[in-house]
Amino acid sequence: RVLVGTKVDENHANWVTAYNMLTGIRVSVSRTNAKLDRPLTDADFDAKQKSTFDIAGNELVPSAKYDFKFKDYAPWVFRHLRARFRLDPADYLMSLTGKYILSELGSPGKSGSFFYFSRDYKYIIKTIHHAEHKFLRKILKDYYQHVADNPNTLLSQFYGLHRVKMPYGKKIHFVVMNNLFPPHRDIHQTFDLKGSTIGRDYKEENLGKNPRATLKDLNWLRRHQHLELGLQKKRLFLEQLHKDVRLLQRLHIMDYSLLIGIHDLQRGNEENLRGKTLKVFNPGGETSPEDFDPHSVLMRTPSKLENQRKARELRQMIKSERPIPMGETRSKMPDELEGNAKNSVFYKDDGGFQATHENNAPGEEIYYLGVIDCLTHYGIIKKIEHFWKGLSSDRHQISALPPEEYGERFLNFMSGITMSPEEAEREQAERQRA
Ligand code: ATP
Ligand code: CA
Ligand code: CA
Repeated sequence: RVLVGTKVDENHANWVTAYNMLTGIRVSVSRTNAKLDRPLTDADFDAKQKSTFDIAGNELVPSAKYDFKFKDYAPWVFRHLRARFRLDPADYLMSLTGKYILSELGSPGKSGSFFYFSRDYKYIIKTIHHAEHKFLRKILKDYYQHVADNPNTLLSQFYGLHRVKMPYGKKIHFVVMNNLFPPHRDIHQTFDLKGSTIGRDYKEENLGKNPRATLKDLNWLRRHQHLELGLQKKRLFLEQLHKDVRLLQRLHIMDYSLLIGIHDLQRGNEENLRGKTLKVFNPGGETSPEDFDPHSVLMRTPSKLENQRKARELRQMIKSERPIPMGETRSKMPDELEGNAKNSVFYKDDGGFQATHENNAPGEEIYYLGVIDCLTHYGIIKKIEHFWKGLSSDRHQISALPPEEYGERFLNFMSGITMSPEEAEREQAERQRA
């Protein structure tokens, strides 16, 4: 399986940063997971643990290749979140460890965030702004409670919040989260939908050059696309989305999207196997450059054998430092796709949610769905943007709406995309009659 991304090796500009991120995660996650589990306390939500890494190391911190400082935020909360999302500790560490590490998809957009995939493509590290970081800490308790109450939540699954600082460098905050798209399947089409139409158009003429670009609301509408879910799945999806959006509204969050990846079972992975260039995603969201680094290197994902060898090595390594209690969970191979909340109804059809016809027969597509980019607080900047844009465009079409209206518009659009064109017509006719 061939993926596109810039492989981060010793020659890469961000090698040291990426290496330190992973080293910090490995040490802090195994430290927390080595302890006997216990219930969370209020203090766990504000906790932070600082480590200083250097060549020498000490009894708390093993020696590292480079000097850097690492902060682990709310380690116990994230341990519990990972357990709720059904990640196996050894599997998680294995994905985020090793020498060949990550591939970077980091042409920063307006947000300036960098994205890194774990080497097995299961996890994404996203660098975030200080404001987003502070905000996540502030809402962590609400987020945790929501995940506890909603095991099927569609919101981004956060597995860790950390900070790395190199000598003379800036502080870099980052989160580890789920990659919505599966390692083993081609995504034939990707949409990033907000429910707004202003500026939400990927230039179709560029699709020739970049056939796997992330498309937007207007492209969706132009294609008369819809999610074919059948009655039951449609209800499940919309009900969960409602609950998730209610939380985002309550926390004054906006600017989030529903990310949709579509795998066409008929097309399968054939193009991929022929080794054609595959555009996996368009980093930086709507503000990223239209086309993405042409110098990117084709990267091979590790084979099953490599993974098994790596898993053994890693378990050995964890054992020799301090044992992780793995008694209750069977050790799993990464190829079994255990992670990524397989138990959630939306991620259980081969990591996604399979289309269903109205007569309940299975459809020809698998949808990979989730609500992403959900750490933008409706703060002062958005208010200013709203004021200026509000002077020129239709108030309800601009993307910087207050969180209440943003959420309503979002839900409205998303309930629209689950309707077939005929249904949508019927609906509209009924509304006009009323
Ligand atoms: P902006 O604020 O300008 O929209 P951003 O840097 O905050 O950009 P996101 O909106 O979080 O970035 O993500 C940008 C793109 O990266 C998405 O449109 C999607 O293609 C991809 N992406 C983000 N999160 C995920 C995820 N969890 N799984 C798969 N792809 C993702
Ligand atoms: Ca975005
Ligand atoms: Ca953003």
